[in-house]
Amino acid sequence: MIIKISNLSEGEHYLNQVGKVEELRLTEPFKGNYDVSVKVAKTHHQIVLDTSISVVAHFECDRCAEEFDHQIAVKYQMVYLFGEDKEIRENDDANFAYLSIETDKIDITKDIHDFCLISIPLKKLCKEDCKGLCFKCGVNLNVGECSCTKEEVDARWQPLLDLKSKLNN
Ligand SMILES: [Zn+2]
Ligand SMILES: [Zn+2]
Repeated sequence: MIIKISNLSEGEHYLNQVGKVEELRLTEPFKGNYDVSVKVAKTHHQIVLDTSISVVAHFECDRCAEEFDHQIAVKYQMVYLFGEDKEIRENDDANFAYLSIETDKIDITKDIHDFCLISIPLKKLCKEDCKGLCFKCGVNLNVGECSCTKEEVDARWQPLLDLKSKLNN
């Protein structure tokens, strides 16, 4: 996504772009369309971009192995200062960049791509309270109960029980 800044007046501007995830060079687990909204705030010395990204990713649940689509919403801010890259800001903040006076556009495609990637959750759950699979018979407990439900242990406690039996050994 390209933000043209050459003839941009000072003040706030709102941009929106919709397209296919492939245009952002995003592959699996991302799919379908992305939707990006950008607030561009321009002053004499700087341009601040507040970017909101909405994209869908296809995951397999860590607990029950069901496949599901997950809506990812990312927001980030990037500050572009006019001038040369000076030592003052070096390593200060990753969300700062410098623009030379001649710069006429900002390409935020790579930023969008990178923020989508870091927004993939570490734990992928089809729903917050996914019951997972019965650890004995493998039945998906979101769908129904199995005959071993009497001794069934809440999947969320299983790591603790494992730890407890380890400590006892
Ligand atoms: Zn699940
Ligand atoms: Zn069972």
